[in-house]
Amino acid sequence: MNYYFEDFTETNYKTILQRLLHKGYEFIKFDYEKIKWGGGGKTVLWRHDVDYSLNRAYQLADIEERLGITATYFIHMQSNFYNIFEPSQYEIIEQIISRGHAIGLHFDHGFYTQSRQMSNCDEIEKHAGIEKEMMEKYFGIEIKTISFHNPEASHVLELGQDYYAGMMNAYSQTIFEHCKYCSDSNGYWRYDRLQDVIESNYEKLHILTHPAWWVPYEMSPYERVKRCVDGRRDSNLKTYCDMLDHCGRDNVGYKA
Ligand SMILES: [Zn+2]
Repeated sequence: MNYYFEDFTETNYKTILQRLLHKGYEFIKFDYEKIKWGGGGKTVLWRHDVDYSLNRAYQLADIEERLGITATYFIHMQSNFYNIFEPSQYEIIEQIISRGHAIGLHFDHGFYTQSRQMSNCDEIEKHAGIEKEMMEKYFGIEIKTISFHNPEASHVLELGQDYYAGMMNAYSQTIFEHCKYCSDSNGYWRYDRLQDVIESNYEKLHILTHPAWWVPYEMSPYERVKRCVDGRRDSNLKTYCDMLDHCGRDNVGYKA
């Protein structure tokens, strides 16, 4: 299998977006009227599920803004890889919002159920509603869309309804019926290569990317995740060292 490491660079990311613009695609926010009817032109729903790195998300948000494109960034409250309550990460989300992008809720139903039973809609409504309210109050914004983290594992794809807790479901049957879907899950193309999808001239596209997969230079998916983890570790250690330095304390055991 060809994993196309060369596809997942920032340079190629920019090239892909430029190609869509050149082909006349309009980047739209999640809106059922536009998704169903489209207004006659080619449209693309450009969505990011932020699983591993908000810092990477920021880099992509910046590239998009320079091209006049807006996307929707789905933020995960229980991520093992970032914490939206850390000042630096909070600031990144504010930066993404200030660039005109939308924020959605990346909801992990498995966090609440830990079971293999088919998901209960009432449970999703309840827990997603709580997370929506928390994010809205925390960032002073309205959260209009929801995407599911690990949807196969928590059996939520079978439900497919249009809304949960008042948020548009990015995995709704309606969206899948109207749009050609392409995802970079796991850092490679499991089904279609995005470049091929773009050249196939579908009228409506729904593209899911995960920002951590798009890096400054070619590397394997494992290396890309390790890069995120190492960056976070280095940043946390620097915070500790800077704090001691600022307070004039000895940094005992520190080796440069
Ligand atoms: Zn996810």
